[in-house]
Amino acid sequence: MITLQNYINGSLCNPIENNWLDNIEPATGKVYSRLPDSSQYDIDIAIEAAKSAQYSWANMSVEDRSAIMMKIADGIRNRFDEFAAAESKDQGKPLWLSKAMDISRAIQNIEFFATEILHFASESHHTSQTINYTLRSPIGIVGCISPWNLPLYLFTWKIAPALATGNCVIAKPSELTPYTATLFAEICIEAGLPAGVLNILHGTGNNIGSLIVKHPDIHAISFTGGTVTGAHIASIAAPMFKKLSLELGGKNPTIIFEDANLEQAISTTVRSAFTNQGEICLCGSRILIHDSIYEQFKTEFIKQVQQLKVGDPFEADTKIGALVSEGHINKVKSYIDLAIQEGGIVLCGGNLVYPQGACEKGYFLEPTVIEGLSNTCRTNQEEIFGPVVTLQSFSDEAEAISLANGTIYGLAANIWTEHLSKAHRVSAALDFGIVWVNCWLLRDLRTPFGGVKHSGVGREGGFEVLRFFTEPKNVCIKI
Ligand code: NDP
Repeated sequence: MITLQNYINGSLCNPIENNWLDNIEPATGKVYSRLPDSSQYDIDIAIEAAKSAQYSWANMSVEDRSAIMMKIADGIRNRFDEFAAAESKDQGKPLWLSKAMDISRAIQNIEFFATEILHFASESHHTSQTINYTLRSPIGIVGCISPWNLPLYLFTWKIAPALATGNCVIAKPSELTPYTATLFAEICIEAGLPAGVLNILHGTGNNIGSLIVKHPDIHAISFTGGTVTGAHIASIAAPMFKKLSLELGGKNPTIIFEDANLEQAISTTVRSAFTNQGEICLCGSRILIHDSIYEQFKTEFIKQVQQLKVGDPFEADTKIGALVSEGHINKVKSYIDLAIQEGGIVLCGGNLVYPQGACEKGYFLEPTVIEGLSNTCRTNQEEIFGPVVTLQSFSDEAEAISLANGTIYGLAANIWTEHLSKAHRVSAALDFGIVWVNCWLLRDLRTPFGGVKHSGVGREGGFEVLRFFTEPKNVCIKI
């Protein structure tokens, strides 16, 4: 049994109250490690450590902060295979995906913000009588709370810019996927990150997560997770005047116009629908197809979906691993049942999978494609966050835009067309924070990342997030 520990004041340590949670491997359904169920005592020690570290970290030169962060990135790179295996064991995703996406991107996140900070500049405003310049100081102690779907990827996406800007961080990974955060703590110790600068507390959202949000010495919260949790966090943090960045759920449309390059559109849509078991906030779960090509798209799409192998994340040809937990697979399955009740027709998938051998008790589900549902039904309105997509047809551009915009969410949209003006026109008309045209998940870390409507508040990435993690102060000098 592996024991995962908190990382407080530069050391790995047990929770003060000695309470622990079981950690289950989704592919086998078996407990394989335990993690701290942290409490008020742990956060109090972490806050004191962060307070002690705050001044020297904030006043260290950016070059020195950057150098420590680059060492952390190197530390992950040196243990790349171990990190990738840990991520797959903990989350259920195929090992090749942990390597190609999660761990590679975690390294890239740290290197990106370690170097971006060297280029961060603030503004100055001149008049005939004054010079104004803006100082950008770290906020102080900030809280970073991340979900289970892309564990180290999203954990580092928050922590790296927070550290680069000179903040001390209290961070909580999801209780469902705590493994790589603990390995990350080991790397931070080896890389010489000063004690107290980063503190990682494990435990449940309702307990330690909530204590982070409420703590009066934490002045900003960067949160990625579900919309309901985000609203709850905002209701606590907003009256305390904390800065808030909320990256929340989605119900993303993929729009296939009649002039799309169908071969590319279909193969990419199979990926955008089912990568990481559909457990990516950017996955397209509502596929909207022009009625003139609907049948052609459907036939070829289903053919390719049926070829996706579901099973052991550690087998090289597995395309769909295990869903993250028993609770989550039950939720996803309940949406397939709901879709049938709502009149949907399951074109492929819909069943739980029980691979033979070590994974027979794991949480596996066939990739599922459903048609025949209205845009307003619950299946097409609520986030499912699993390997389940629906197909709908549209007859013209206006209808496509209306269907795409017709949910409370606005995270990411996908457009497939070879018509340049249409691509620009539709991109502008979509109420989403991110639009991909003829591609999916091509990420440039300099770009603003985030959603509109119930998909979130604020933007991560690029200089946007460095502005989030700093307070601007204007200094006005009379000439
Ligand atoms: P949750 O909202 O359940 O949890 C997210 C994190 O918040 C976890 O660490 C969780 O802890 C913690 N948490 C839960 N309740 C509280 C609370 N009351 N106070 C403080 N922290 C709390 O989301 P999931 O982990 O289920 O992640 C899936 C969701 O994340 C989906 O809706 C998905 O769309 C969204 N997401 C959004 C992204 C974006 O960029 N917009 C990217 C990736 C995912 P614990 O797990 O231990 O309970």
